[in-house]
Amino acid sequence: MAWTYDPQNIFARILRGEIPNKTVTETAHTLVFHDIRPHAPVHVLAIPKGAYVNLDHFAAEATAEEIVDFHRTVARVIADLGLDGPEGYRAITNSGTAGMQEVPHYHLHILGGRVLGRLVEPG
Ligand code: AMP
Repeated sequence: MAWTYDPQNIFARILRGEIPNKTVTETAHTLVFHDIRPHAPVHVLAIPKGAYVNLDHFAAEATAEEIVDFHRTVARVIADLGLDGPEGYRAITNSGTAGMQEVPHYHLHILGGRVLGRLVEPG
């Protein structure tokens, strides 16, 4: 699979500082910020700073350092936001047209703070 990255996507523009965001935390390789249209009391987006279109692009081509940094940061944010208790959270990533991906830069939605319903609507 050849992935084509659009450097004008909105998260690329956030990473370049062209658009503001409500940052939760930032590391060398990862940015976590609040979703602009939250679907739950807690709704943040974790993105790698590298130019990856979706999960399979990131998983296939990111460096080990980027992959570890991303997931350790996600774990820290889940704890910092108080989502690491028994109520838990949902982590979702969308890709392509079937996944109804809106922004073509890999992002993990982290949602919590209420019961979130079933994973997908019945087909
Ligand atoms: P997806 O459909 O998985 O690509 O989700 C894209 C998400 O990005 C949506 O939940 C949007 O609300 C969110 N979003 C779009 N633009 C911004 C922005 N400027 N700042 C924060 N979140 C955004």
